[in-house]
Amino acid sequence: MKQPPLLARAQARMAPGALTRDGFLGADPRDLVEILQADDGAVRRLGLTHEAIGGAMARLTDAALERLGATARVGGFAVSAVEAMGQLPCPFGHAGLYPKAEVRARRTRDGAERAWTALHVHLVRDHGFYQGRGSPYRIEPADLAGFLGLGPAAD
Ligand SMILES: [Zn+2]
Repeated sequence: MKQPPLLARAQARMAPGALTRDGFLGADPRDLVEILQADDGAVRRLGLTHEAIGGAMARLTDAALERLGATARVGGFAVSAVEAMGQLPCPFGHAGLYPKAEVRARRTRDGAERAWTALHVHLVRDHGFYQGRGSPYRIEPADLAGFLGLGPAAD
């Protein structure tokens, strides 16, 4: 699929040094539209939606942000947020800013850990965007769903 101009502009904002030092695309050579379509397919094959995955991330994120600097326990996870100064806009060009704080979630049962920021929750839930391959915060949709205990990938 040819990349629509809206996504081309978003992709430019995802480059290293535009909104964040590392950007959102890692070493991924694909156009944003291809990244979105591939991950959308992966989520559909799991029988899930981006809303469900992002919603589960949001519950953990909200609990962590409420207790900045401490650990919160939510449904089988221990979550904490590490404060970072400032806020970030969405690279897709939405109004609004997202705190830079990094959220770490540890699954109590086996100690598995994943990390993301408030902006990433929005990117997953509202844009179906899990970042490019090689990006520091890229989490494969199937891995993320399994970690959160969603869908057939839950383990
Ligand atoms: Zn957005």
